[in-house]
Amino acid sequence: MEQTMKIMRLIKGRLALVLPRCNRMTFMVSQGMYRKLWIQERIALKAHLGICRRCVDYHHQLELMRDFAREQGQQRNDNMESGLSAASLTAETRDHIKRFLAEAEHQY
Ligand SMILES: [Zn+2]
Repeated sequence: MEQTMKIMRLIKGRLALVLPRCNRMTFMVSQGMYRKLWIQERIALKAHLGICRRCVDYHHQLELMRDFAREQGQQRNDNMESGLSAASLTAETRDHIKRFLAEAEHQY
């Protein structure tokens, strides 16, 4: 078992030397959010994600932010279609926003 782990670490180390570096891959991950990557880019990215935990985490974080932004956009569209607007906020939420804005204005 330990021998297998050593071999895997060796392979990962060798792949890391051959594959593009993290800064190039994070750029590619970002690009992949809004355009289809070329086949060469997809292969390089998949291989890199197979050996780099940090880029996998970055990829997941971008996906979470994208999904959240989409949900917010969809909610806003649903509210506009159903006639709901900021006027539909609860009085407590409106007061909270007013207090926050007043404090922010006072600070600057
Ligand atoms: Zn990486």
